[in-house]
Amino acid sequence: MKEDYYDILGVAKGASTAEIKKAYRKKAIQYHPDKNPGDPKAEEMFKKAAEAYEVLSDADKKARYDQFGHAAFEGGGGFGGGGMNMDDIFSQFGDIFGGAFGGSGGFSGFGGFGGGGQRRAKGSNLRIRVKLSLEDVANGVEKKVKVRRKIQADGVTYKTCGTCGGRGQVTKIANTILGRMQTAATCNACGGSGQLLDKKPADADAQGLRVQEETVSIKIPAGVEEGMQLKVGGKGNDAPGNGVPGDLLVAIETEDHATLKREGDNLHYDLYISISEAVLGSSKEIDAVGGKVRIKLEPGIQSGKILRLRGKGISSLNGYGSGDLLVHVNVWTPKELNKEQKEFFERMRDNDNFEPKPEKSDKSFFEKVKDMFS
Ligand SMILES: [Zn+2]
Repeated sequence: MKEDYYDILGVAKGASTAEIKKAYRKKAIQYHPDKNPGDPKAEEMFKKAAEAYEVLSDADKKARYDQFGHAAFEGGGGFGGGGMNMDDIFSQFGDIFGGAFGGSGGFSGFGGFGGGGQRRAKGSNLRIRVKLSLEDVANGVEKKVKVRRKIQADGVTYKTCGTCGGRGQVTKIANTILGRMQTAATCNACGGSGQLLDKKPADADAQGLRVQEETVSIKIPAGVEEGMQLKVGGKGNDAPGNGVPGDLLVAIETEDHATLKREGDNLHYDLYISISEAVLGSSKEIDAVGGKVRIKLEPGIQSGKILRLRGKGISSLNGYGSGDLLVHVNVWTPKELNKEQKEFFERMRDNDNFEPKPEKSDKSFFEKVKDMFS
């Protein structure tokens, strides 16, 4: 069970943005890796607090979290797996601590862990948006997108940076709000890559990189939602030297469907039938993902009835089953009648057979809604 973000920061559910920020500041200082060297528990808490702050400081994410809890970020989006990495966390700090942290050459925070080994520079991330139809979302889809990535140019060579000896970092004593601390700062000479450009072809930039258009295939799982972000590892920009490429971050956008409305993994469809069809029964074609579906309406079907087509909804993001397609039956009442029709309904006005006699099985609207959410 994942811990509640409000509990992690120690604030109440209704806490203001300022309170959340203040609480996070406190936790970040308390569990900062430079204050707790070699303490995996502190590092864990530090990461947890950062993740909680990442969500609660963002109005959209906070709203989704308040409504759906951790489920709002499960699967492809959000923090599945390893949680936030340290780069992400320290890049937040400019916002929290002002100039004291963050930014290049500032408080990098890598002094505390990583075993003192060389940190390999990572190329920058690329971001794209992918627009999905309801069909794409329902079944999952593989999208091929063109991205312009920076890659190492052919013939480029690098040499070890003399300033940092290839480590990419230099050690500094800094006065911070945490007191006097030894911190590791990014080497200015090589920009943190530990390597300097030796030979480069004419078409390469100052880092020995050139832009290349590449087609990247993105596997999008079924059940994703608007605003989720997927990561395609290693498909961002290359880093110079022996660094590793950044990632391609894919923001999900979803198109509305003309007739189907999504609610979680379920889909809703409004079906309108005539009084005659309600009385006599009918067979109707309705929209479903992946094509039309024919459904049978029994004679005497009531307006407001909800027919549930099991498994015809969205495949669940967590891989367990699918939602349903809920067909809402609406009986259409004609506004104008000709003489003959009017006479017929006049005759039926006091007919016992036309008197409403709801049975136990004809649940009220409120009972149906209750069933749907239980
Ligand atoms: Zn260097």
